Amino acid sequence: MKTIGLLGGMSWESSSEYYRLINQGVNRKLGGHHSAKSIMVSVDFEEVKHYQHIREWDKATGLMIKGAQQAERGGADFLLICTNTMHKMADDVQKAIGIPLIHIADATARTIKEAGLTKISLLGTAFTMEEEFYKGRLSSHHGLEVVVPEQDDRQLVHDIIYRELCLGEIVSESRRDYQRIIEKLVEKGCEGVILGCTEISLLIKQGDVAVPLFDTTSLHAEAAVAYALEEDEAEIGRPCG
Ligand code: GLU
Repeated sequence: MKTIGLLGGMSWESSSEYYRLINQGVNRKLGGHHSAKSIMVSVDFEEVKHYQHIREWDKATGLMIKGAQQAERGGADFLLICTNTMHKMADDVQKAIGIPLIHIADATARTIKEAGLTKISLLGTAFTMEEEFYKGRLSSHHGLEVVVPEQDDRQLVHDIIYRELCLGEIVSESRRDYQRIIEKLVEKGCEGVILGCTEISLLIKQGDVAVPLFDTTSLHAEAAVAYALEEDEAEIGRPCG
């Protein structure tokens, strides 16, 4: 079994989900008292959030590279960055380490394509919904048509993530807001929804909406379990880029 490197703390609310999911995933496959071999480097999210919001991306990249290298030195055989947003600098992180990085968008896109969907909506932070590093990868690498909410709704989705979900607050009114926003996207022809922020699954569950949900946290964790237990290093562990 390979040792899974987790670059977490963004936020720790979702990192604890990753930890649970990878251990459950390994145990489901191997049974008994088996659990995942892992090492997590967990950052101080206040620092990361600060650099994101003042757009000091070089400093944020520096923090990600430092954490990734710590995980590698600690014995990780491959790395997950446990947040969609901080895949903005995934290529820089990959270049700075000698172990492969499993890209969260690739793990997600693979499942969407297996489900036969082509037009998909994306919810996440404003960075994830608006910048090319994520949407662009889904369309150029995977041929998906990606639709994001309108400006006001994007702002609301973003604010709920940082003001509530990253602090562990689950608010029913925010769930209703997300449901309303998803309904609008479905009216535009979206066949499913990417929960493109690792905390959204704390708020929205499959039973809350009429179309398939693609939860990046669980899909990323599943890809890690498969790679950790896989002998041949096929597609899944291909370095990103
Ligand atoms: N966990 C979130 C994501 O998946 C947002 C927190 C962050 O800014 O990293 O994008």
